Formats: sequence, structure tokens, C-alpha cells
Amino acid sequence: MSTMTAPENTPVWVNTARCKACDICVDACPAGVLSMKPDAGTVLGAMIEIVTPDACIGCNECELSCPDFAIYVATKKEYKFAKLTDSSKARQEAIVANGYRLPTDYKEAN
Ligand code: SF4
Ligand code: SF4
Repeated sequence: MSTMTAPENTPVWVNTARCKACDICVDACPAGVLSMKPDAGTVLGAMIEIVTPDACIGCNECELSCPDFAIYVATKKEYKFAKLTDSSKARQEAIVANGYRLPTDYKEAN
């Protein structure tokens, strides 16, 4: 369940002031929605990024797994989520295999 009201037309969003770039939510996402990006201004040199919001299936795994309550998912009333597809699963595998970062040259499977 979401603890905040969703910004309009947004399936998942982050409070970057709370995020410590631990990768846990990126690992938990089944749909390749989340990735880390370089960010020189943070302790770990990285920050969470929502790379494919349209692929979010609203499963809440990211919100439930975040130890810092930094990521939020809209409710099914607030947003019409996608279904889990083979291309989303393939993207997630590529993100995990690349150290929780979407490869810069990643090509979507169809
Ligand atoms: S709600 Fe599920 S699909 Fe959407 S970003 Fe979170 S873990 Fe991924
Ligand atoms: S689990 Fe939470 S703290 Fe860790 S990267 Fe995701 S949003 Fe940031």
C-alpha cells in the first residue's frame, strides 16, 4: 500500500533525500523498471532512477523491500499498471547482470 498520494500519472516515485542507493529495490523489481545511475553527489556515487515507468506492474515489491521508506507505488485506483511481459523480464535480467544498472546500449526485446 502506498504511504503517499501519487503524483499525477506516475506509477512509482522516489524520495531521493532518503535513498541511500542500496540496490535492494532494483533487485526486487520483476519488471526492469528501476536502475541505478551514477551520481557523484552521493556517498555511494549512485542514485536510483525509474527507467521504464510504463513497465511497472504495481506489485509493490520495491516499496515493501526499501529499508529507508524512500520509494512509493501508486494504488491501482491511482494508476493503470502494465502486465508483466517477456521484454520486461529480459530487461530486469540485464539490469541485475550489469550491477543493477541498465546497460547504456540495452536494446529492448520484442
Ligand atoms: S511496483 Fe513492482 S514493478 Fe513497479 S517498480 Fe516497484 S517492484 Fe518494479
Ligand atoms: S531500496 Fe530504497 S534506499 Fe535502496 S536504492 Fe531503493 S529506494 Fe534507495
